[in-house]
Amino acid sequence: MNDCIFCKIIAGEIPSTKVFENEDMAIIKDLNPQAKIHLLILPKKHYANIGELAANDADLLKRCFSAFAGLTDELGLQNGYRLITNKGDDGCQSVNHIHIHILGGEKLAEKMG
Ligand code: 5GP
Ligand code: ZN
Repeated sequence: MNDCIFCKIIAGEIPSTKVFENEDMAIIKDLNPQAKIHLLILPKKHYANIGELAANDADLLKRCFSAFAGLTDELGLQNGYRLITNKGDDGCQSVNHIHIHILGGEKLAEKMG
């Protein structure tokens, strides 16, 4: 886990813009935004991807989504949003710590892939 950049961001060892934090997760601004609003939900416990998290800690996943659902207005997502999580090579996952992209703040492309 020591060289995981998202673990370091969660620990505050690498700077980031955190827009929300609780005991389960942090929400940060993506370094390379692909929409007007592009945030990342980072569950604090290290799991490599959505499959590992869902299989081992479904309650944590549920708590993250529940907390996010209560934050959408203050995050500027009143008009809607898109959640994406990439897994593995076909999904083009580049950071092996589960993270859920939040995209919004504008009308997104209809085509997702
Ligand atoms: P993936 O390709 O794994 O689904 O997404 C990784 C995301 O993490 C990318 O959108 C990338 O811009 C973002 N990212 C990578 N390194 C950093 C970083 O050090 N800080 C922040 N805030 N975002 C990062
Ligand atoms: Zn990690």
